[in-house]
Amino acid sequence: MLASVIFCLSGSLTAKAGPQDYEALRALVGNAMKVIHSRTTHEFVARFQGVDISFNLYNSRFNPAAVYKHNCVATPSDEVVDCDLGLADELISEFKLAEMSGSQLDKETLRYYQEYIIEWILAHEIGHVVLRHGRSDFADDIRGFAVFDAAAQQRELSADSFAVDLVAVPDSTDFSAFGVVLTISNSLMRKSVCPETYPKVCSRMPAGVGLIYDYANGSPIKVGLSGSHPAYTARFLRLLYLIGKDVDAPGLKEEASGAIELLQVETNPGTWEPIKNALLKK
Ligand SMILES: [Zn+2]
Repeated sequence: MLASVIFCLSGSLTAKAGPQDYEALRALVGNAMKVIHSRTTHEFVARFQGVDISFNLYNSRFNPAAVYKHNCVATPSDEVVDCDLGLADELISEFKLAEMSGSQLDKETLRYYQEYIIEWILAHEIGHVVLRHGRSDFADDIRGFAVFDAAAQQRELSADSFAVDLVAVPDSTDFSAFGVVLTISNSLMRKSVCPETYPKVCSRMPAGVGLIYDYANGSPIKVGLSGSHPAYTARFLRLLYLIGKDVDAPGLKEEASGAIELLQVETNPGTWEPIKNALLKK
């Protein structure tokens, strides 16, 4: 009875992650990186916000017996997260992160992308468990315009918000995880501005680091959802939006919110809306 009262109280507020949650996340990601090429499923238990969550981690590429392939699934009622770590490589390929750099990824860069993509995926699924959402998939079946359906994405937005809060430890100077979101956003912008040379840059978009949106002279950048996984695109745009809104790191915040101001998505055939409106539409 008491537990349910406490749950109701905390359920009405946004759960606030602390430094111990971040440490638990980093340890979990470290374990994930150790088993990313394993042929079997590995179970790890980690505590977040007082909830002991079991993580079944595997890579379906090497472990064909894995239950959920190309997906991470949170089952809050059992406090379990099943996650195919191979998703990291699929996202790296979906957003053409190797081709963007113009050559093959060196081992270290590949590992960096894998590690921090896995960190975001796991942080998001932890959000679903801690926030007691229903069972939810990372690679949900949402296709095309339904990605920005307000009702369907409220839960996703709150899990992402939890993830950003978990990853953005106050006073941390490690922005590696945010760097991955910026790189992916950069890829989406490049696809929009330089479709003929994508994933390489064109003269309209100078090469460089971070998000480069000055070239647009304030005109909107339309991000299409035509890829094979529009939900993935929406997911990273949501993270970019939340970083611009919630992360207490001035340079990063400015860069992310500046880009968000310019980005538009197609919410209905032929209707383009600023990403902020699309995300917050009631
Ligand atoms: Zn989700």
